[in-house]
Amino acid sequence: MSDISSSIQQKLDNLLDHFKSSLPGRIKELRKQLEEFIKSPDDSACADALVLAAHKLAGSGATFGYKNLSERTKKIENIAKEVLGGKALGELQIQNLKEIMDKLESDHGIIGKLGTFPVDLPLKESERIIYFLDDATSEEDELSNQLQLFGYTIEKITAFQGIEEALLPDTEQILIINASILSEIENRKKLTELKKHFSTVLRIFFISQHGDFDLRLVSVRAGGDAFFHIPTDVDLIVDRIESYAKRLMSEPYHILIVDDEPEQIAYHALILQQAGMITSVASNPQQVLKILVEARPELILMDMYMPGCSGTELLTIIRQQQAFITIPIIFLSVEERLNRQIEAIWQGGDDFLAKPVKPEHLVKVISTRVERTRSLRYFIERDSLTGLLNHSNLKEQLNREIKRAERTGSTLCFAMLDLDFFKKVNDTYGHLIGDRVLKTLSHLLRERLRRSDIIGRYGGEEFAVILFNTNIEDARIVMEGLRENFSQILQRSGDTQFKVTFSCGIAQFPDFSSAEDLTAAADEALYRAKDSGRNRVNVMVK
Ligand code: GH3
Ligand code: MG
Ligand code: MG
Repeated sequence: MSDISSSIQQKLDNLLDHFKSSLPGRIKELRKQLEEFIKSPDDSACADALVLAAHKLAGSGATFGYKNLSERTKKIENIAKEVLGGKALGELQIQNLKEIMDKLESDHGIIGKLGTFPVDLPLKESERIIYFLDDATSEEDELSNQLQLFGYTIEKITAFQGIEEALLPDTEQILIINASILSEIENRKKLTELKKHFSTVLRIFFISQHGDFDLRLVSVRAGGDAFFHIPTDVDLIVDRIESYAKRLMSEPYHILIVDDEPEQIAYHALILQQAGMITSVASNPQQVLKILVEARPELILMDMYMPGCSGTELLTIIRQQQAFITIPIIFLSVEERLNRQIEAIWQGGDDFLAKPVKPEHLVKVISTRVERTRSLRYFIERDSLTGLLNHSNLKEQLNREIKRAERTGSTLCFAMLDLDFFKKVNDTYGHLIGDRVLKTLSHLLRERLRRSDIIGRYGGEEFAVILFNTNIEDARIVMEGLRENFSQILQRSGDTQFKVTFSCGIAQFPDFSSAEDLTAAADEALYRAKDSGRNRVNVMVK
């Protein structure tokens, strides 16, 4: 068992122990409430208290594997609810309640065991190493130089024989290799074995001057993940590398758990944490809106019945806010009545899970929902050509980051980039090649900047970057490095090669303290960079 799951198993065991030891006290309390209720069935406060106590025990009982306890308390809850709804409490029902209570005290039912389950935690993020075989042609050398501009570490290996020694067992790595190696059957075998051995971390990209079908087929059979006909636009390779890296770079899911029972929260939080998720918790419905705004969870796992405010009421309040119309909400409850479940969904809930829910099932349902919401959001927030944030979302992020900088007393830089003489690129090589250049710049920005930096396509051939916690001197150095590298990237149109440059203007918060001022200052700096000759970075100081 891995460290994480053994420590979580320990916490689960503690939670279960705690529940077990609190049980006699809780059952005694329930008995007291039941007696009060029988004494004055018309007093709605007594009935309310009984419903709540029974409901809590039913929920926790189900979660912790006390099946009988859960079913019996559910019966008590239902009878009390009927009385609350206007039904008279007859002798027969009183008898029934007393019997249930007696049984409850004598036998709690089978004690379930809380188990963890194995999960595939994402691999650790790593630098991407690209192996080239030596005796490289000049074209391959050129390719490795170009890839270096995007920030990859290139490692060269001289002999195919010892290649496995250079590979790392737990690091994402890409092997770029000339397909000519495939002519030897021994080599093909070896590649297949490598691929098997390093299956999850190794990608093999073949490059070749020939791109015929037979060679491609052999390469696929030898475990090749991609095949590039060289000379190739380096951007196509970067595109592929990025798509593999995306899986690794994905942020952990962030789930808000709302439940009035702390032990229920603790249990579900542990299950989700074990699956690599981040959890925020609210034991009081009144905290929820604040947490939604500040912590920005991606999904809410909500108890159906809470004192003061029911799950469906809270759902309605959340859905009334424009910003939270799409956040997935999953109800978790001992509620078995289908019409109640349907009602919850009809009100705007996304799913309904009955307690006890199997950990694997809970994780699966939540992951699927978050993943789907993420991909929908991706298309809404991002520019389709480059995958960068679109104009309106970038502006929204800028406002948010400025607030964060104010709160934390940090600096922040806003950089605007504009391609130089881009109209000429389109006029000379066509719009499609122009689009490729835009993608190349977006790849460069994404690969070279920090994960926390926010990158957007501001408009046509304009881009913008928000560098948090960065002062203007550092921002200038970073953007200057990018400018220099971008100007060396070889763009291709058929057999023709050409280079493109960009100009950049930067301004800093708090020198310019609103999003409008910051944008205007960066724009002015950019204009001056253009005016003084282009292919340069200019900063605006106050
Ligand atoms: P400057 O150095 O002064 O910025 O000159 P420029 O030619 O880059 O600037 P200008 O604003 O005159 O032209 C911008 C060009 O960018 C014109 C437009 O066709 C092109 N463009 C804008 N969006 C896209 C796009 O999505 N794809 C392509 N291929 N071109 C685009
Ligand atoms: Mg331009
Ligand atoms: Mg422009």
